[in-house]
Amino acid sequence: MEAQLTRVLPRLSQFRRHFHRNPELSGEEYSTTEYLSKQLTAARIPHRVAAGKRGVITEIVEPADPGAPAVAMRADIDALPIQEENDVPYRSKKPGVMHACGHDVHSAILLGTTLALYRARPSPVAWKSIFQPCEESGRGACEMVREGALEGVDAIIALHVDPNLPVGKVAITPGPRTAFCQDFAIEIIGQGGHGARPHTTVDPIATAANLITLLYQAIPRQTDARQPVVITVGAMKAGHTSNVIPETALLQGTIRTLNAAVATHARDTVERLCASVAQAFNARISTLFDRLLPGMANDPQIATLSADVAGRLLGPENVLRNEPPSMGAEDFADYLQAIPGCMIGLGAKADDRKITPLHTATFDIDETALLIGTRLLTALVFEWPKSPDNRETDN
Ligand SMILES: [Zn+2]
Ligand SMILES: [Zn+2]
Repeated sequence: MEAQLTRVLPRLSQFRRHFHRNPELSGEEYSTTEYLSKQLTAARIPHRVAAGKRGVITEIVEPADPGAPAVAMRADIDALPIQEENDVPYRSKKPGVMHACGHDVHSAILLGTTLALYRARPSPVAWKSIFQPCEESGRGACEMVREGALEGVDAIIALHVDPNLPVGKVAITPGPRTAFCQDFAIEIIGQGGHGARPHTTVDPIATAANLITLLYQAIPRQTDARQPVVITVGAMKAGHTSNVIPETALLQGTIRTLNAAVATHARDTVERLCASVAQAFNARISTLFDRLLPGMANDPQIATLSADVAGRLLGPENVLRNEPPSMGAEDFADYLQAIPGCMIGLGAKADDRKITPLHTATFDIDETALLIGTRLLTALVFEWPKSPDNRETDN
């Protein structure tokens, strides 16, 4: 294994910089897919291009022991609509599109891992790699599940870079890690008119302003204080000029919770408040909710196993085990609805450089994280216990 890693490690930065220079938005991951497929073909690794040429799934590589479980590794490959502000040689060549969530890093690590593991086969467990599109839109994971990515797979692991965690450290915590996420759109239909005579109109902007204030007050106030809930209206669109009351207003927002029951309660509350405000302001209000993306919970057994492997590789002091969950969302959750798995937070913060958060125009990583991520994934496949994970899945 070490010999194969030595061959692949120098190429990781080249892979990552290729992805970084050529980012593609969710739903448009065609050339990233082509690049991945070309690299796998060159190494004669059996794979198929999936999801309408926007993703790649490698065939299961058989283990030394035919009874051993099969582990999938997943990388997300899409980028974000952000104009990069980093002045680096590998800066994005595409105006307004940037790998600002580290998916270039995840893709490079999984590509390197796939090349090294394939050359070092057979390994103690069966394995496959999933290069998934559309993580940022929350739709890619269920698309890959529908495409059969999990067929014959017993467990799944993934990495996500963490710009708050120094490079050399990882965070592996059992249980809930990300929030249930429900995006919504609210349309307020009023009646337009002259700004000087609001009494002759039904003002959708005044209605929206009251509705937002009420949502922000009522949702936390009507939820058990021991249960986290966040509601954010991130977009409000209405009107064109100073003295005209428009016909309609559109609000778009998101609800985050750590529990399905709280998510349902928050959604019901939004609907009830919309109905009351509509009546109070004599407007019509319609609500549209996206699919509820489930929260992601790491399987305790796989988290422990991963933490042990990471501890041997990096030193136990570099494995954080009890990080609080994030109110962010992650569609890796959709795989974990079907099989147990674990997402590992990969430290990517450089000592000597200021790195800004995920989804910002100056996000970047210390590329040492590429080596650590690849070593960690290959070690997980080689040190996965022979059988305990063949148990019945219970989630
Ligand atoms: Zn992201
Ligand atoms: Zn991400």
